[in-house]
Amino acid sequence: MLENIKETVFSCIECKACNDVCSFYLSSRDENIGAWSRIKAAQSILNKEKTISDIVRELYTCTCCGTCELICPTNIPISDVVRSLRNLAVKEGKVPEPIANLCKNIISSGSMTGEGPEYWKKWIPDGIRFPEKAEYIYLVGCMVPFRLHEIGHTTVDIFSKADLDFTILGEQERCCGLLLVDHGFFDEAKKVAESNIAKIEEKGVDRVVMACAACYHTYKHIYPRIFRKPDFEVLHVVEVLSDLIDQGKIEFSKRIEEKVVFLDPCHFAKTSKKYEEPRKIIESIPGIELLEFSKNRNEGYCCGAPGGIRLLFRDISNSVAMMIIREALDLGASRIITACPLCMFQLASTVRKQGIKDLKVTDIPLLLHEAI
Ligand code: SF4
Ligand code: SF4
Repeated sequence: MLENIKETVFSCIECKACNDVCSFYLSSRDENIGAWSRIKAAQSILNKEKTISDIVRELYTCTCCGTCELICPTNIPISDVVRSLRNLAVKEGKVPEPIANLCKNIISSGSMTGEGPEYWKKWIPDGIRFPEKAEYIYLVGCMVPFRLHEIGHTTVDIFSKADLDFTILGEQERCCGLLLVDHGFFDEAKKVAESNIAKIEEKGVDRVVMACAACYHTYKHIYPRIFRKPDFEVLHVVEVLSDLIDQGKIEFSKRIEEKVVFLDPCHFAKTSKKYEEPRKIIESIPGIELLEFSKNRNEGYCCGAPGGIRLLFRDISNSVAMMIIREALDLGASRIITACPLCMFQLASTVRKQGIKDLKVTDIPLLLHEAI
């Protein structure tokens, strides 16, 4: 709650270091949509100088990626400040309609589109029988059933070839609810956490593997804050693939002679300090040369898509994607490698819409599958 972090909000020394890693500021040089603007907005609400309706732009051009917090000298939890302000918007009935609808769909049906179990069946490959019980459960998250079935298919194929004992949650899977947390629907998010954890614990699995960085972040870091720590280990697909490579269970049969650049996914890399595993996987592929963005690891760019920002401020979200794409092209990369389906969706759709022919966007399981 905003009142609880009042002291922290006023501890800002106005150094604006947070702006220098906020993708929204970097792509626009507009302080009104940079990280510092969220703190100024919170101060103005606490001082009763402004209302929620006055700060919609500051409030809803933030993906809660957390990058700014990693460098703030006074450790202000900027994304929590944003979440608290948005909670106020929920209480005052001021949530922008597209965001409110998305959240309503998740609460009522467990998917962002409002579809039920049929949404989660969309990606399941034909002709494969998944066991009832296994050591690992693979969760795909919202983007794979939506538009990126191939990420699910290739991951299943790699796991099968590597003899991993795994199954899927399939039509029982539901959204992790990070969007609800980021938009201040805290009570509803807690219910989602309770239900998701209970469903997986009933299966008696030891490990859950996430295709999506946001799901990973939510199960690993958010559920313990809003409900409790799950009784199973939470892993990102990159961690499992990295282990399989170490164990010699993935063999490469093809060289990929390309220069590629890796985009650190905020919700995997930054919150869990997982910077090296994805790079290790990419560099293990014969022929590949790995380049780096000028901002990488803890200062890496956010793709600009999470939190429904694309729905509300499509142009601003696109300009973040274009900033990343332009830098990749300037570096001489032929691909941007992602480790989160939402990052891939955001960048690949921008590349396609802009008609850029000499740049591909590939998520790590797809890249690996290509080289096997
Ligand atoms: S980095 Fe922290 S202290 Fe500096 S302006 Fe941003 S919020 Fe304030
Ligand atoms: S959480 Fe991310 S998007 Fe939001 S202000 Fe910080 S760096 Fe910018």
